[in-house]
Amino acid sequence: MNAFTLNRRAIMLTAVAGASSVFVPGPGGSGRAMAQTAPSPSGNAGHYRFRVGAIGATVLSDGVIGGPPRVYASDAPEVELQEALRRAFLPSDHMTLNLNTLLIEAGGRRILLEAGAGTTMGPNGGRIFENLAAIGLGPADIDAIVVSHTHPDHVGNLRTADGGKAFPRALVFAPKADWDFFVRTDPDLSYMPVAEDFRVRFAAAIKSSLEPVRNDVELYEAGAEIVPGLTTIAAAGHTPGMATFLVHSGDDQLLLTADLAYHPVVNVDRPWLPGPDRDKDTALASRRRIFDMAATDGIPVLGFHFPFPGLGRMLKTDGGYAWVPANWQF
Ligand SMILES: [Zn+2]
Repeated sequence: MNAFTLNRRAIMLTAVAGASSVFVPGPGGSGRAMAQTAPSPSGNAGHYRFRVGAIGATVLSDGVIGGPPRVYASDAPEVELQEALRRAFLPSDHMTLNLNTLLIEAGGRRILLEAGAGTTMGPNGGRIFENLAAIGLGPADIDAIVVSHTHPDHVGNLRTADGGKAFPRALVFAPKADWDFFVRTDPDLSYMPVAEDFRVRFAAAIKSSLEPVRNDVELYEAGAEIVPGLTTIAAAGHTPGMATFLVHSGDDQLLLTADLAYHPVVNVDRPWLPGPDRDKDTALASRRRIFDMAATDGIPVLGFHFPFPGLGRMLKTDGGYAWVPANWQF
């Protein structure tokens, strides 16, 4: 797709927005979502509202995934990795990653940034539906979904158990280079530091999650503006087409760093590289470029996999960066 087509679609998305009201439950969806998932066992909130200028924003947790810390810090010396985990009071043998999707209300449209994992990467994902219901919305209320890249933890919820569209009205935007790599071919995933059967399931989960939207997906080039107030920024390396997102309104901005970092303890406060990064040099260059922008301009950041709700700021330090979580706003 060329930029003109994308812009035309973006304009259309804006034009049909009309005067639809902010966060008013739409018809359908909510009740069904309520029935789909049990309430969170802890009873704690899985959603977090704030604003970016005139744009309403809500972090909606899809739950958590995780794995051995080594997967997310592939080049860390073992002693240093264990010390970093110990100092952060984290387990030595398992790292929990959150799934912080973001719902924004821009130009009268409800746009979800990242679809979440569902159960493609373990049993503790798929919470987005109950968290949508908690704010009075259902899957049918989502107008568009923009994914940063097509790994299963970012697209897993697009498919229902019976193979249909989980968000029946949503126009899905995915980066073209990822679509070409993961969907149009059988990708060589030998760079991933996981067992071969995991790679096979991982590749299959991407194709099956995207299958319901394959005929009407909008493929974007990173750098494109999806709608006014939502710009994609190229950040390739983790995958061929990964983008990060800048949400902006007036003087306010929010930078979504996608998978430039998995966990701040190993990928921000320490410079280690995720094993699943396909091109580690390019991924590191993308990380530095985007982190520098966040730190230099003091832009608030949302880390998709950071501890919920994943909001904070990047601080430039002598040797790199430090993650400073935002205070909870009541
Ligand atoms: Zn991810």
